[in-house]
Amino acid sequence: MFEQIFENVRGKSPLVHCITNYVTVNDCANMLLACGGSPIMADDPEDAVEITGICKGLAINIGTLNQRTIPVMLAAGKRANELRHPVVLDPVGAGASALRTDTALRLLEELKLTVIRGNISEMKTLAYGSGTTKGVDADVADRVTEDNLDGAVSFARELARRTGKRKVKQKGTKTEQGRYSSKYALTELLVCGECGTPYRRCTWTVKGEKKPVWRCINRLDFGKKYCHHSPTIEETVLQEAIMAAIMRTAKQSADVLGTLKLHIGMALDISDTEDNSLDIQIRIAEIDAEFKAMLQAIATDTVEEFDEQRATALMAEKNNLEQQLAQYDSAQQKKENTESRLNEIFTILDGLENHPMEYDDRLVRQVLECVVVEFKERIKVIFAGGLEVEQTIPV
Ligand SMILES: [Zn+2]
Repeated sequence: MFEQIFENVRGKSPLVHCITNYVTVNDCANMLLACGGSPIMADDPEDAVEITGICKGLAINIGTLNQRTIPVMLAAGKRANELRHPVVLDPVGAGASALRTDTALRLLEELKLTVIRGNISEMKTLAYGSGTTKGVDADVADRVTEDNLDGAVSFARELARRTGKRKVKQKGTKTEQGRYSSKYALTELLVCGECGTPYRRCTWTVKGEKKPVWRCINRLDFGKKYCHHSPTIEETVLQEAIMAAIMRTAKQSADVLGTLKLHIGMALDISDTEDNSLDIQIRIAEIDAEFKAMLQAIATDTVEEFDEQRATALMAEKNNLEQQLAQYDSAQQKKENTESRLNEIFTILDGLENHPMEYDDRLVRQVLECVVVEFKERIKVIFAGGLEVEQTIPV
């Protein structure tokens, strides 16, 4: 496969626009040349978008991002998307600081990315919206080992699927999207199997009777120009099909339910973090005691001079330990929230085995990741965690 890729690159010698960091910029240029491509580095607001226009691909690396380059990354990314160029993002240090995390999430939200290349902590930050990346290296707690390799692979697949399916926000549709998303779960979940664009709810009048239906947004906006065969589906029919898929899955053997739970659990990632908070509290108490003794000594003239250096070191250590405690507490809180959401989903799925339910937006939001409209007579229902179920629609 790689042979073919290299051949392809050497044959076309594509010009690639790089907005990268000043640590590795030289390596990036040389690697592109070595592969048979041609590099160009441009990150000035006046220059970047024009350069994107003459290139065949874009690489964004946030390794040394700053307030000047962030808007440039977004603008060049949008231009590259318009031109359907492949866009690669390296979210260096996402999770290490608010600016890096926010910028990486914004790029993910506003751009259609072809490849995201990152270490496991950076990827987790993109998936969950926050993380604990140690500088530009992965956190030890996130380390991928033989034991958790399968989980890490599922996680990467799930993230790739989720980010790949996502529709990039466009100007002008934001408020409408927002209005719908707060109201209908399907606005966030229903996707066109033909073109990958989300479906939108609209009202059709048939023989004087108003009916809510769902249609591919691409189809609504551009007619048959880009999306040719995607069906319009009546809301009631769609809701019945989705509930049927959920019910069928919940009723299936304990095995299927068990697998589903396992998948959801993995996707929500409830791995344990090591609890060393007691050790930290003991050390803080020791520091307090030592500091108190130092004050005592100077007050009772036991020593001649107060050891400022030692006092500063102690306070710095205490400060650091208190930060660690706070981080641990917030990680604990996040874990508890995740676990309670997981329990809620399991309770719903267990309950469904015996008690059929009407269509319920909240339930759908909780247990489903995506619903793909494949044909007029068939949808694919994808559960949180990745289990996929085909469901026929009566026509
Ligand atoms: Zn479509």
